[in-house]
Amino acid sequence: MPRLPDRADYVIIGAGIHGLSTSMHLAQKLKAKGRTVGAGGVRIVVLDKTGVGAGASGIACGVVRNNYYQPAMRELMAHSVGVWESDAQAYSYHPVGYMQISPEVMHAQVGTIYEQQKAIGYDSTFIEGEGDSQRYMRGLFHDWQAKNITSVLHEKRGGYANNQASLAGLERKVRALGVDIVSGVAVTGFRSAGGSGAVSSVETDGGPIACDEVVVAVGPWINTIWNMLALPKHIAVKGRDGVTHEGVRMWHYMALQEGTLGVDPDFQKTNDGAMPPVIHVDTDAPLYSDRDGKLITDKLWGLYYKPDFHFGGVQGGAMPAAVERDADQVRVDPYGPKSPEFVVDDNFADMWTSALAHCQKRFEGKHGVYRNEPSGGVGCFTPDSFPVFDRFRDNVFVIADSNHGYKMIGVGQLVADELLGNRPALLEPFRFSRYAEGRLHPVSRSPFPWS
Ligand SMILES: Cc1cc2nc3c(=O)[nH]c(=O)nc-3n(C[C@H](O)[C@H](O)[C@H](O)COP(=O)(O)OP(=O)(O)OC[C@H]3O[C@@H](n4cnc5c(N)ncnc54)[C@H](O)[C@@H]3O)c2cc1C
Repeated sequence: MPRLPDRADYVIIGAGIHGLSTSMHLAQKLKAKGRTVGAGGVRIVVLDKTGVGAGASGIACGVVRNNYYQPAMRELMAHSVGVWESDAQAYSYHPVGYMQISPEVMHAQVGTIYEQQKAIGYDSTFIEGEGDSQRYMRGLFHDWQAKNITSVLHEKRGGYANNQASLAGLERKVRALGVDIVSGVAVTGFRSAGGSGAVSSVETDGGPIACDEVVVAVGPWINTIWNMLALPKHIAVKGRDGVTHEGVRMWHYMALQEGTLGVDPDFQKTNDGAMPPVIHVDTDAPLYSDRDGKLITDKLWGLYYKPDFHFGGVQGGAMPAAVERDADQVRVDPYGPKSPEFVVDDNFADMWTSALAHCQKRFEGKHGVYRNEPSGGVGCFTPDSFPVFDRFRDNVFVIADSNHGYKMIGVGQLVADELLGNRPALLEPFRFSRYAEGRLHPVSRSPFPWS
């Protein structure tokens, strides 16, 4: 068992994108104020029951985009894209851009995204109409053939980053700043003292650590830590209709479905030989199996993909599957590809490879090279599927990104600001009180719960 300090000023639980980013920005900001971080100074300890990148951040597809229908999400993402761009090399970030390619049912909503991107100075192009959309896409990929597409939003910023490599870059920066990262120590509970709700020590399987502030950044394990903090399993949500709905489950799970087609990543280069933007297509055109021609769906469906040398092929995913079970009954461990339950099945492989073939001719007949290996993982979602970033029990800051969050590398910077006494405006729309007050985010028509 690794040695734990008896006390720390800040205990950060989870060494994924948010825990590492928060610790890095906190240490940087403290140093900028002339404080020493580490032994003899301000003690910041990041605890992880397994190690850096053991959670969702370590398996994420890594897509970084701005395309969100919710203005607050878009502003937050623009901020995070700035953080990715600030050190692309260390974060293994590929600024290839991102495309949202949509059917008529999403046209108007994506149009508003474009207008608001213009308003916040986020560089993008919007193409409208079936003919122009196809011409634009064929200008990039000569074999483009997706049907029922009437708009293309091309974000010139964003792209993707390599999951473990970006975390390794963050880890190097964090350690160099004097932050302790302790792996192999699981948080098992919280203790309060003197009748206050505030946490006075974090209990772990390696003993207690007294602390002043706690940051919870545990991704899909949030339900477990939430229970340890004795926060409500069910809450009241004031809906858009003005009616308050009692007893809404605070957390629910979905299984993220991703996979890799075992082709050379160069296979997906653009007409001029460049690495392409990340492609996201939603359409209501019927989808037929590339294996046997059977109808897979005639409802709205979507997929995303990118060539990725790290995954060794063309990698991407489709809509997540609901996990129809109470959050307390979901076995999050072992996580990701090691899970006996939450890995993708043959239906996903058929759907996703057929969707690729629907979009580009080069993928027709390629289902045979789909990598038949376990992939995917669960995400834990809030009642409205948008993040909760807020303080609980006086000194516990919870970063619960509702599975939006590998791209949100900048949230840690804002949380660090708040830990040092500020109240960042970008975090305000994500307070827990929005449920009781009915300040919910608008819902898009995309088939994905996070668009
Ligand atoms: C398959 C998949 C693909 C995804 N693709 C994308 C994408 O392309 N773009 C995007 O933006 N987002 C994506 N996401 C979502 C994104 O990965 C997550 O929202 C984000 O990584 C969560 O980061 P985190 O730091 O909160 O948690 P995590 O990265 O999950 O880290 C949490 C850490 O907490 C530790 N921990 C848990 N419990 C305890 C405990 N009791 N004690 C100590 N340590 C503990 C774990 O070991 C883990 O290392 C994807 C998610 C999945 C599952």
